[in-house]
Amino acid sequence: MSAITVRVPAKVNLQLAVGPLREDGYHDLVNVFHAVSLFDEVTAAEPFDVNPSAAAPLGVRVEGDLAGEVPVSDDNLAVRAARALADRTGRSYRADLLIRKSIPVAGGMAGGSADAAAALVACNELWGLGLPREDLMEIAADIGSDVPFALLGGTAVGTGRGERLAPLETAGVFHWVFALADGGLSTPRVYGECDRLREEAGVAAPTPAVSEALLAALREGDVRALGQALSNDLQPAALALRPSLANTLAAGREHGALGALVSGSGPTCAFLAESAERAHELAALIKDVDGCRSVVTASGPVPGATVAG
Ligand code: ATP
Repeated sequence: MSAITVRVPAKVNLQLAVGPLREDGYHDLVNVFHAVSLFDEVTAAEPFDVNPSAAAPLGVRVEGDLAGEVPVSDDNLAVRAARALADRTGRSYRADLLIRKSIPVAGGMAGGSADAAAALVACNELWGLGLPREDLMEIAADIGSDVPFALLGGTAVGTGRGERLAPLETAGVFHWVFALADGGLSTPRVYGECDRLREEAGVAAPTPAVSEALLAALREGDVRALGQALSNDLQPAALALRPSLANTLAAGREHGALGALVSGSGPTCAFLAESAERAHELAALIKDVDGCRSVVTASGPVPGATVAG
């Protein structure tokens, strides 16, 4: 095979419970991930160059409206993932990576982690390594807390720093609207603000626990109950750093969203709709709200990183 393309979904957090700051700098989390039909594509190809010894072993290009916001250096998470995979085998492999970007950048939808997961799957195939998913999951967890879920997809609960995953049973399809904001929010900054707000209020961080109401709503495919059960402990911090998000959330609720929350560390806002039709209507109603750059509709759950047919 001279090129492999992998499609990988964005995630929204249905519950993000943030516990105390640990000594290693991470927070203990209960993180209910849900993969939605908003996809990046990563192609790994054998490089065509005249002088292979002079070229960097891993090249990366990014295409799409959001391309300018993504690093094309060794800091790109897809490059880091491909390098980690090559290191694991102890041999040097080469690949040109092309990312077709649709997932918002620094938007709280784990787009960079998605590209890392896709690069692992694509390079595993391109280089004929045949590593099983469990090995890819281990490498993924070393790259970042959200990367294993992008491999797994579906709906799953993550504990620890979010990387220990257990798939969750769900029924039916859920319909979403995502309001994308101008500019991103840095994930470490939002966690820092969450700690600061808690300290200022004299509130000790609770031990995070998964919401039983959320699990039941997912199991039963009860969209109204799911709307009620959505929660995100990072939301007050994201709102403090980006006050205009309060407007966006209020507009979605006013226009009939069954649930509205900031996705992960934001600034993307997620709205749950009763049906695909209601999602499209809602998208049209909130697209002109101040601070909202664009809207997209999507549904979930969908599978994780998959080689495109
Ligand atoms: P999360 O939801 O996991 O906190 P996020 O969705 O808020 O993440 P990402 O889009 O994953 O944020 O990107 C965060 C930062 O990572 C970006 O600002 C960018 O500089 C860097 N980055 C590195 N590689 C990528 C990539 N392939 N795609 C997007 N961002 C990348």
